[in-house]
Amino acid sequence: MVLQAPGPADGDGPLRVVDRPDPRPGPGELLLHVAACGVCRTDLQLCEGDLAARRLPVVPGHQIVGRVADVGPEVSGWTAGERAGAMWLAWACGECRHCLTGRENLCERARFTGWDVDGGYAERALVDARHAVRLPESVDDLAAAPLLCGGVIGFRALRLSGIEPGGRLGLYGFGASALLAIQVARHWGCEVYVCTRSDTERERAWRLGAAWVGGYDDRPPVPLDAAITFAPAGEVVLAALRGLDRGGTVAINAIHLDRVPEFPYEQLWWERSLQSVANVTRQDAADFMALAAEIPVRTQTEAHPLASANDALRRLRSGEVDGAAVLVP
Ligand SMILES: [Zn+2]
Ligand SMILES: [Zn+2]
Repeated sequence: MVLQAPGPADGDGPLRVVDRPDPRPGPGELLLHVAACGVCRTDLQLCEGDLAARRLPVVPGHQIVGRVADVGPEVSGWTAGERAGAMWLAWACGECRHCLTGRENLCERARFTGWDVDGGYAERALVDARHAVRLPESVDDLAAAPLLCGGVIGFRALRLSGIEPGGRLGLYGFGASALLAIQVARHWGCEVYVCTRSDTERERAWRLGAAWVGGYDDRPPVPLDAAITFAPAGEVVLAALRGLDRGGTVAINAIHLDRVPEFPYEQLWWERSLQSVANVTRQDAADFMALAAEIPVRTQTEAHPLASANDALRRLRSGEVDGAAVLVP
């Protein structure tokens, strides 16, 4: 499913079926038989043009679960038939000062799956072997897909929010990423306060052990140690900031935010922080996959045939998706 030019996700949708010959893996690459590919909000933003395309045409999709079908030259550690995942970070240089200090997510030469290189809305995908992710045996293909973006980035957001075990955590927005983050936070013994507009999401938050559930305009009943925002709206970031205790952090889990409205400095004073969350590292993925298997994290998915990718995007945009949408070739 190829994006030739961004356009609205309603009507026919921006993606088209294109037949291409099977790609051959180059040096350092794996060819994956795609078993499942998660549909992420970032895909929607790319397809609709809110996130500027870096190359066109491009195959979107960066939560790829597949089997290694072929191994390119100079690959070590992977053999044909093994299960592998691919995530948003497709490649990092390994040489810059960010890469050399464990922050490859900030690499200025980084390439991203489904943005700089073709992704997983396809039957086959080429991935860099060093950036392929090992997936826990206990998690099936469909369930593993949303772990690869929503899950790992939610985990990094939890870390960057500075939340400690037993702390009070706010989650603003309760889509695919948040419902994985709450399971980790509950595993750490945190009290979780959820703000969302959607009635379905509110019910799901109660079921997953939220201490309190409200709307974006409702202030949680206690000051929060940390909060994570998932909605791509600056207003929500400020709502989260107003819910924080002194010294607390809002981690902003969004690659694209409409704008941050002006706000009085008093709301940031007392060492409150706003922290963006940019991409993830391979270490984040490895740590999260181990934790997801240990908890075990439960994912809720709805499967769509690959050719229905436009429908999946439309459902995501209108908030109809139950859990996480996953394309199955
Ligand atoms: Zn994503
Ligand atoms: Zn680098």
